Amino acid sequence: MAFPLLVPAAGSGQRMGADRNKLLLKLGDRPVLHHTLATALAATAIAEVVLMGQAKDFPAFAEIVAALNPAKPVRWVLGGATRQASVYAGLQALAATTTGVLIHDGARCLATPDLFDRGAAALAQCDGFVAAVPVKDTIKEVVDRQVVGTPPRDRLWAAQTPQGFAYPKILDAHRQALAAGWEVTDDAALFEKLGWPVAIVPGEETNLKITTPQDLAIAQFLLAAR
Ligand code: C5P
Repeated sequence: MAFPLLVPAAGSGQRMGADRNKLLLKLGDRPVLHHTLATALAATAIAEVVLMGQAKDFPAFAEIVAALNPAKPVRWVLGGATRQASVYAGLQALAATTTGVLIHDGARCLATPDLFDRGAAALAQCDGFVAAVPVKDTIKEVVDRQVVGTPPRDRLWAAQTPQGFAYPKILDAHRQALAAGWEVTDDAALFEKLGWPVAIVPGEETNLKITTPQDLAIAQFLLAAR
């Protein structure tokens, strides 16, 4: 079964210290977003791609997509002020008949096609999944630079994307979030708030999110090793 993929790509380069969208920075000889899209388009379970971006980046998106010359439809819509708002904009741009949707951060440019396919296979069996890996570090909860707790590590997983959901449910969850003023950093968190189950799909250690210049350097290394 193949699903549409939403790619939030409307962020800025703030934490990267860049003067523009970090997804347009070069990784090797191509922009970060090129790598993300190339991998997603190579997954058999992705039927089409909808990018959410800022209007000023649309010419760059057009160039990236033209260079990929994809065999599947790729379009872009206006994102929002937060990742959550961008995803909601993408959800609204999908056909009402959509049954399921995958969501993958543009900044995770090293996911493999197999991860998308495994996610889609999971989505055929459940209403919500998140790619995740067990954490290796001991995690501290900190308030005002004081440690207030140490959650047991054997229960902690680091959430990645892709995540995937039954379309009517994730649309409903985003609408409820908007009405209630919930602010979350990933989509699975909305399912959790509503008490709806989210299954784990084993993610990939190399599926890092480009956030800082160090991440870009590590991604460069991983890409060269492939
Ligand atoms: O900033 P961060 O890396 O956590 O953002 C995750 C993803 O969400 C990135 O791919 C970024 O482009 C996207 N994003 C978005 N709209 C925003 C902020 C971030 O689509 N307003």
